[in-house]
Amino acid sequence: MDRTFVAIKPDGVKRGLIGNIIRRIEHKGYKIVGMKMLQPTLEIAEKHYAEHKGKPFYPELINYITSGPIVAMVVEGKNVIEGMRHMMGSTVPNDAQVGTIRADFAQTKECNTIHGSDSCESAQREIDIYFKPEELCRDWKSMMDYVWESMPSE
Ligand code: UDP
Ligand code: MG
Repeated sequence: MDRTFVAIKPDGVKRGLIGNIIRRIEHKGYKIVGMKMLQPTLEIAEKHYAEHKGKPFYPELINYITSGPIVAMVVEGKNVIEGMRHMMGSTVPNDAQVGTIRADFAQTKECNTIHGSDSCESAQREIDIYFKPEELCRDWKSMMDYVWESMPSE
């Protein structure tokens, strides 16, 4: 099963959207195998957003992501990297499709409520920044696992 790193960003936590966003992930059938609330340190924020270092928005991005707690998650599912990006919507909320998390909950491209890895490599890199291997709970079955077992294999 594929895995991705998802984070409810500080604006989402401050606005009380944790439950709402997690509900969407659960309803999709994805399996949350790691979850923690933390306030990113400068060091963690700089590692996470290393690819954006030097861009004009980088200092504000670091301020934003360290400004309060985030809810960090490792999420499993079929083609979950692409699926989560689809559920999140475009970086700029007004370009995102209605029904996506960013279109429905966010107003600006700076504070766009949710993060999700954009590739297999960034998923692994970002999971390693936020989680130790022993913090992931992969040895349990969600209801969706039983559903998959009852389906013809592709
Ligand atoms: N960002 C910003 N200004 C920009 C572009 C991005 O503040 O012009 C922030 C925004 O929070 C975004 C994050 O930097 O989510 C990472 O940018 P990226 O282009 O990787 O977008 P994402 O992958 O989050 O959709
Ligand atoms: Mg990105």
